[in-house]
Amino acid sequence: MKKTKKVLAALLTVGTLGMGALASTVVTPTVAAAKTTKKAPKKHKYLLVMGHGAGDPGARGNGASEANYLRKKMLPKLKKYAKKTKRSDITFYNPKHNIVRDTFVYHKGSYKVPKNTTVIMFHLDAAGGHGGHVIIQKKKPTPRDKRTAAVIKKYIGLNPAYRGYSYRTNLRNCNVLRRRHIDYSLIETAFIDNRSDYKKLNKNMDKIAKGYIQAITNEKIK
Ligand SMILES: [Zn+2]
Repeated sequence: MKKTKKVLAALLTVGTLGMGALASTVVTPTVAAAKTTKKAPKKHKYLLVMGHGAGDPGARGNGASEANYLRKKMLPKLKKYAKKTKRSDITFYNPKHNIVRDTFVYHKGSYKVPKNTTVIMFHLDAAGGHGGHVIIQKKKPTPRDKRTAAVIKKYIGLNPAYRGYSYRTNLRNCNVLRRRHIDYSLIETAFIDNRSDYKKLNKNMDKIAKGYIQAITNEKIK
C-alpha cells in the first residue's frame, strides 16, 4: 500500500515538472517518476567530522584539548550555519566517536562513508607553530581548498610552513577515503597551544564557522 501511494504522489509531482525531466530515462514512466521525485531537489552530501574524541583528546594547549574545543566551540557554530544552506545536505559525524578508531579498529568509519559524499575533517594543530592550513587530497588545491584557506588567512593567518596547503599521502584515515575515491579535505584551523591563535580562534569563531560552511558548500549564506 505504501508503495502505491508513493508512486501516485510521484506522478502528481511530475505533472508539474514536465516531461523534460524524464527524457533521458529509458524506463517505464512510473519508475522514472518515482525516481525524479526522490532526487529533487538534488543536494550534495557533506559529512563534517570534528577530529579526535572517544578518549583521544588530540592536541592540547591554553587549557583546552583539541577534541573538546572542536566539539564545544566549533561544532555548534558549524551546525548553525549548516542549517542555512539550500543546496547542501550536511551531516556531522557522531561527536562521541573517533573516525580514525572507527575506521581501523572496527573497519567502519571511513569504510562506511557513502560514495558521492564530501568529507571535511576539522582539526587543531599544536607544538611549535602558528596559523592554519588545509591538508588537500590532490597535488593542487581545489577551488574549495582555496576558499577554505582564504577563511583561515582572514581570521587566523596561514601557517608559514605551508602557505595554505599541505598535500599528504601518509595519513591512513585519509588514504581509506582516497582509495574509495571519496572527496575530502582536512582543515587545521590554528595552533591550540599558540596564545595569539587561540585568541583569534575565540574571537572569530562565529565568522570562521560561517566562512567554512560557505567555502565548503560554495553557497552564500545570509
Ligand atoms: Zn588533530
